[in-house]
Amino acid sequence: MLEVDKLSAFYGPAQALFEVSLQVGPGELVVLQGLNGAGKSTLLKALMGLEVRTEGTIRYQSPGGPVSMERWETHRRARAGLGYVAEDRRLFTGLTVRENLLVAAGPDARAQEARALDLFPVLKKLLKRPAAQMSGGEQQMLAIARTLMTNPRILLLDEPCEGIAPVLVESIRDSLLALKQGGMPLLVAEQNRLFADRADRVLLLVAGKVRGS
Ligand code: ATP
Repeated sequence: MLEVDKLSAFYGPAQALFEVSLQVGPGELVVLQGLNGAGKSTLLKALMGLEVRTEGTIRYQSPGGPVSMERWETHRRARAGLGYVAEDRRLFTGLTVRENLLVAAGPDARAQEARALDLFPVLKKLLKRPAAQMSGGEQQMLAIARTLMTNPRILLLDEPCEGIAPVLVESIRDSLLALKQGGMPLLVAEQNRLFADRADRVLLLVAGKVRGS
């Protein structure tokens, strides 16, 4: 599904990732672990073509066949099916929950919204609420739901349960595992072991390099 080979990433002259290779197969959950600054966020950004310059290859099984997307603009990667949920969530805080969902919607908005809300039923009661007036956990649910509105074929999630109240952590984790159960491949960066225990593979990043597995 996604095959990353010797991916290096640079912020200006500073190298943050060193020849990282990994694969995410259909329906697989792959977890990236590592301490603060190890390069987890950088790896997800590099896959999306955000902020960093990269070397190496990113092969992806698109509906039309295999492609190498390492030179593609971010929007093209997103359109091809890479769904990214950033650590800072990037919601439109002045818009309501429903408006945040519709901003991301494709042509089949109703069906997409229904599917996203089924996965996060908490949001059904909050549709008219401005995103600014939600808890961190509710905002995270909205960020994931909004990404689902784009019909992704694989999800890249940066610390989806970081800094969230325990009761909502459980719920977010269960929803994401249900997505995986339904066949959605997931690449999750995390510092705790919420997803690692259920992962098909765990990669440990140390100072920008993969160590062990
Ligand atoms: P965290 O959990 O704190 O987000 P992380 O594992 O995601 O940690 P990254 O944020 O990917 O780590 O950082 C990897 C390295 O890249 C660090 O040395 C960091 O200082 C550096 N870095 C991150 N963002 C930038 C940036 N915008 N400009 C320059 N260097 C950066």
